[in-house]
Amino acid sequence: MKKIAVLTSGGDAPGMNACIRAVVLTAKANGLNVVGYQHGYQGLLDQDYVELDELGVDHIIHRGGTILRTARCKAFHEDGAAQQAAQNLNALNIDGLVIIGGDGSFRGAVHLSKYWNGKIIGCPGTIDNDIDGTDATIGYYTAIDTALNAIDKVRDTAEAFDRVFLVEVMGRHSGFIALSCAIGSGAEHVLVPELDKQLSIGDLAEKVKTIKQKPTGTSTVIIVAENIWPNGVHDLSESLQAQTGFECRPVVLGHVQRGGSPVSLDRILATEMGVFAVESLIKGEHGMMVGEINHKMTLFPLEETGNKTKRLDDYLVHAQRLMS
Ligand code: ADP
Repeated sequence: MKKIAVLTSGGDAPGMNACIRAVVLTAKANGLNVVGYQHGYQGLLDQDYVELDELGVDHIIHRGGTILRTARCKAFHEDGAAQQAAQNLNALNIDGLVIIGGDGSFRGAVHLSKYWNGKIIGCPGTIDNDIDGTDATIGYYTAIDTALNAIDKVRDTAEAFDRVFLVEVMGRHSGFIALSCAIGSGAEHVLVPELDKQLSIGDLAEKVKTIKQKPTGTSTVIIVAENIWPNGVHDLSESLQAQTGFECRPVVLGHVQRGGSPVSLDRILATEMGVFAVESLIKGEHGMMVGEINHKMTLFPLEETGNKTKRLDDYLVHAQRLMS
């Protein structure tokens, strides 16, 4: 192995830069050349790349976003696109590719490997933490902190007005961010896709009335994973107000959850994953995702990352239910 490439794809996540840095520094320490493709798979199709060395990744460990940019590339679903990408990688004599992204990006990796003979390793980068084969994904811890910071502020105003606030956090298909934020903020209730798909406004209204009767029920904060309610959190808030008579307000945290300087846990996780990805490539591994399970680095087949829904921590669910 003489030359590797790295790219970031799909939703950006704080810590991606720390991972890029680790990939480059580990490659250089092993005498490998590195190129970075820009804008994910789109860059692979357009042969849009930069040579990366130690200087290029200096002082990026603390920066959010990704210096390589990212993108969603519809065209990459086509067989012809994967063939083009394979040609482009071969033209640069790339032997190995590190893909930092979410489960969609890993499906893209599997698609590419049908047409390219080089070795591919994935690093899970997504704030949603919805990828099997690792306890946490790069960006997850920072997203929780960012959301918590905002929810603490919501609590202040909720308390001042005795209001009910519904705070929508990211997690279209998984409630990891919502559950962690509920625990971390001391929220009175949480709604997650894994447990609340069949949400009934009547049940929620009863729940809120029960909370409001408690001495601690002056302000009520409910964390809501996005997409729980078909018409969105604004509609949910209006319906809840109509059913309960309590003043309800929606807050959508949105894309701020993706940004910001990565917290220490994400920097460390991303760095370990980047180092392990390159060391795995050098050992000849292929078609695997780097994961960390019980504080140990592991490899997990890329093809299986999207096979089953990653389970929420049962004990955290129990703790939240017990206290709310
Ligand atoms: P994430 O990686 O954050 O889950 P996406 O689901 O948007 O983000 O996937 C990122 C990119 O991966 C897509 O824009 C597309 O280029 C590529 N991709 C996703 N699924 C496939 C697939 N089945 N075949 C080929 N490429 C795919």
